[in-house]
Amino acid sequence: MKAAGNSLSSRDRAYLLHPQTNLRAHQQQGPFVIVRGDGIHVFDEEGKAYIEGMAGLWCTSLGFSEPRLVEAGRRQLATLPYYHSFAHKAHDVEIELAEKLVEYIPADISKVFFANSGSEAVDTAMKLVWYYNNGRGRPEKKKLIARTKGYHGVTIASSSLTGLPPIQRDFDVPIARVLHTDCPHYYRFGKPGESEEAFAARLAGNLESLILAEGPDTVAAFFAEPIMGAGGVIVPPETYFEKIQNILKKYDVLFVCDEVICGFNRTGNKFGFETYGIRPDIITMAKALSSGYAPISAVAITDEIYKILEEQSAKIGTFGHGFTYSGHPLPCAIAVETLKIYEERDTLGHVRSVSSRFQDRLRALLDDPLVGEARGTALIGAIELVADKDTRVPFDPKAAMGAKVAAAAQANGLIVRAIGDTIAVCPPLVIEAGQIDALFDRLADAVKMAGKS
Ligand code: PLP
Repeated sequence: MKAAGNSLSSRDRAYLLHPQTNLRAHQQQGPFVIVRGDGIHVFDEEGKAYIEGMAGLWCTSLGFSEPRLVEAGRRQLATLPYYHSFAHKAHDVEIELAEKLVEYIPADISKVFFANSGSEAVDTAMKLVWYYNNGRGRPEKKKLIARTKGYHGVTIASSSLTGLPPIQRDFDVPIARVLHTDCPHYYRFGKPGESEEAFAARLAGNLESLILAEGPDTVAAFFAEPIMGAGGVIVPPETYFEKIQNILKKYDVLFVCDEVICGFNRTGNKFGFETYGIRPDIITMAKALSSGYAPISAVAITDEIYKILEEQSAKIGTFGHGFTYSGHPLPCAIAVETLKIYEERDTLGHVRSVSSRFQDRLRALLDDPLVGEARGTALIGAIELVADKDTRVPFDPKAAMGAKVAAAAQANGLIVRAIGDTIAVCPPLVIEAGQIDALFDRLADAVKMAGKS
């Protein structure tokens, strides 16, 4: 197919296969092309400014124009544009980043492994769990449990954990040995009269039943995001993770905490596992590790797991896992600088100082008759649109209310994400109080406009 003209739009339609896009609709409507960023704003081809209310894909924590990250990348490319760490080789920035991360993560972590995307980090965690249990002489203990509406990526293995139908349908996944348990969304799945705690107890009971039905000796690990992001910003109910962890402990099941969205200050702590009292065995990270400026992800493991991997690799002759770009110097240098900025500028303190403004403004949207639930923590949140607030009855999906709100917001100069009829908001962490007001003023108008349509 040849481009019909020279515009970005016609060249896009002619040559680009878009991820997570309705390809037929795209041929009709064309792309929304962004050409520049500045702070929390991005600009389209005509120069119109938008507040990037989603930090791109939940990632540009330091905004779109941090000169120190640009300079860190430039300096690294000019010094050592590529090296790897296969077969005992290494380079200085990768070592520095590993050391910094181990110091930064407030958990008992001994080693980190680098990959390029969240999906690869999750794939790696899956393989590590299997390798570990083989090393421990438990070849049957291999099943992995994730949750409905959880999002863990799109590679064959990670998409098997993802509990969202469009990610799996017609791609011939999930693979074997992957199971799903309940989504912890109290507003949607809590029973009438059931308290949050009773709901959490019911879900923990269901998890235990699943483990018992499968056989505890066959269940290896539980994968969870502290707050489910792409499934609709689902905040865990009171006591949920405490109850879930009691079950996991009872049956010797590892906890893999997927911090790809929650990590690096998003939930008002360095990591989501602190916010929710999770004690992870393995942590996956990406996105805000480099403020989204270059692709990099990481998997952090405890010393107990590392020791088994070491033993197993000695037996086999090598640890046979790793990517050409594991610990690539460019994203490593940018990630080191990102972590320095988080500490020097006290990004966490900033997030905490503007969080109540963000959450208050988010919850004020409940005044609109269309908004059934407003949920979130610190600088991540969502509203769920409903046809009837009292009965919580959703809109007919054909009405595409979520898409209408997102389109109205975009017309208002605000980018948010519609996940069905849930509107997610996850701005750069550097957002200031006044900008939070501008964001929610625009979103409130968009909900009103969609309600009138
Ligand atoms: N895990 C979580 C929690 C995510 O939110 C995502 C992406 O949004 C992934 C994994 C996959 O990351 P990537 O798109 O970089 O492969």
